[in-house]
Amino acid sequence: MGRTLRIFAAALAVALSFHLVAAAAARERNVVLVTLDGMPWQEVFRGADPARAADRAFVSELRELKKDFLDPPDRARALMPFLHEVVAKQGVLLGDRDHGGCMAVTNDQWFSYPGYNELLTGKPDPAIRSNEHGPNRNVTVLEWLNRQPGLKGRVQAFASWEAFRDILNPGRSGVAVNAGWDAAPGTQFARLQAEVPRLWPVERFDAFTHVLALEALKGQSRPRVLYIAYGDTDEFAHEGRYDQMLWAARRSDAFLAELWKTLQAHPAYAGRTTLIVTTDHGRGVGGKDAWRHHGRGAFAQSNETWLAAIGPDVAQGKRPGGECASSSQVAATVASALALDWRAFDPAAARPLDIFR
Ligand SMILES: [Zn+2]
Repeated sequence: MGRTLRIFAAALAVALSFHLVAAAAARERNVVLVTLDGMPWQEVFRGADPARAADRAFVSELRELKKDFLDPPDRARALMPFLHEVVAKQGVLLGDRDHGGCMAVTNDQWFSYPGYNELLTGKPDPAIRSNEHGPNRNVTVLEWLNRQPGLKGRVQAFASWEAFRDILNPGRSGVAVNAGWDAAPGTQFARLQAEVPRLWPVERFDAFTHVLALEALKGQSRPRVLYIAYGDTDEFAHEGRYDQMLWAARRSDAFLAELWKTLQAHPAYAGRTTLIVTTDHGRGVGGKDAWRHHGRGAFAQSNETWLAAIGPDVAQGKRPGGECASSSQVAATVASALALDWRAFDPAAARPLDIFR
């Protein structure tokens, strides 16, 4: 081997090893994606609404609600302490329209199935016009990830709402989905879930979904991509139970805090896992009851959303400039957080949110 060739071979070896190290580092990234169904940005950034929280029509335990959510000087922080004390400081919190933020869905329906389809596939599908749409014909980023090397069989989803069996289409996608009142292993847990009253036949309480997701994180299967879809916030809002919606929001925030703490205490996840939290739609504004519902036409501004993210590659306090962020950008953002090229998922998907370092 001539001198030039030897130098070239050495340089090639160095380049290759860098490439392998980079590839290994990429393989080590994980993502936990969480959605809080219909959680309005107004409550995320402003906290409990004083007029609504004092209205006997929407609240049964006025005193407790006042103490927990209205008396504290920072109402947003009182409602969702983890989002404001940890995520907003170490990561990003987008969609605060009171302070120049903006995020919204792109679909023209403003309810759940179209919203989840959009954020999981990277673009709206005008053919989806009902929550009873049936099995999703679109490939979600979760399905695509489940086909990537190192991720196959390690993409799991836990959802409170049974429609995720359609939205994520596990029969085709291969994504492991536990949704609605699906039974789960663990005798005491399975028994409890089977025996509590079913307030909503198509949606179990988030407390069950959370325990299942947490067990998956701590267990042997060790998902690299975990999607958790909570739903209490939307269900209680539709029922007009503002007190219960607020408590659901605070429980959700505590779930997020526990997930983050669990991730940071686990050698496989600590320092290499991104947590992304968002919602599928907003809630109406205007009339006294508008907050309860959502949907284009009847409920103005229920297209407005928000997003929180924290992780090793997320820039601290970065605010994407320019136009309004779109929920359709979530799919590519998930791929990017795993150091994967989102264009390989779908070049027609909306580009990632500008939240990375
Ligand atoms: Zn809803």
